[in-house]
Amino acid sequence: MTEPGLADSSSAEPGTLRLFFALWPDDATRIALHHAGKWLHKHWGGRRMRPDTLHITLAFLGSTPAEQLGALIACADTLQLEAFELILDQAGYWRHNRIGWLGASQTPPRLAELVTALNGALQAAGFPVDARPHVPHVTLLRNTAGGEPPVCTPVRWPISEFVLVASRTEADGAYYEILRRWPLA
Ligand code: ATP
Ligand code: MG
Repeated sequence: MTEPGLADSSSAEPGTLRLFFALWPDDATRIALHHAGKWLHKHWGGRRMRPDTLHITLAFLGSTPAEQLGALIACADTLQLEAFELILDQAGYWRHNRIGWLGASQTPPRLAELVTALNGALQAAGFPVDARPHVPHVTLLRNTAGGEPPVCTPVRWPISEFVLVASRTEADGAYYEILRRWPLA
């Protein structure tokens, strides 16, 4: 685990970290997702995300005082959830932020359980959580015009862990650092 101070970022206040919990792809899944991004880019244009940035956000905390890191980790330590497979088969576009993404036409119950349990534990501990319904998605394109969703080759993602990530924004995009991993049984 990285010392919190080292992950301090240009996008966070001094002494804070910009944090989120996420699913992070294994190498084979990352390659498949990046390939899907190439296909989507061919249809919709925009800026492709670097392969090392690809993820699904489970819970977004935003700017968090570094001294709360222990409490945050304790929240995730309480969870006991099972591994599952996620099939990403559906391209989507959000007009308001011009993001093109790959999502799941069917959310596996274990993913919904993970999101609910994690956000519930965070909320119970007093952390701010997003009240909006969670839409599991991998952002593949930014600043894209979007359009009709092309048919995409499904990406099968075996999910056996979730992670806590610190984010910082550089001139050329977002950089993410995995601070901790939790295995799923
Ligand atoms: P940048 O903001 O630097 O362009 P980014 O959006 O990838 O890059 P963050 O804003 O730190 O980086 O967000 C990290 C992750 O959390 C991303 O997957 C982003 O979509 C998600 N996220 C950001 N803000 C929210 C929010 N308010 N609610 C839910 N998820 C969010
Ligand atoms: Mg952002």
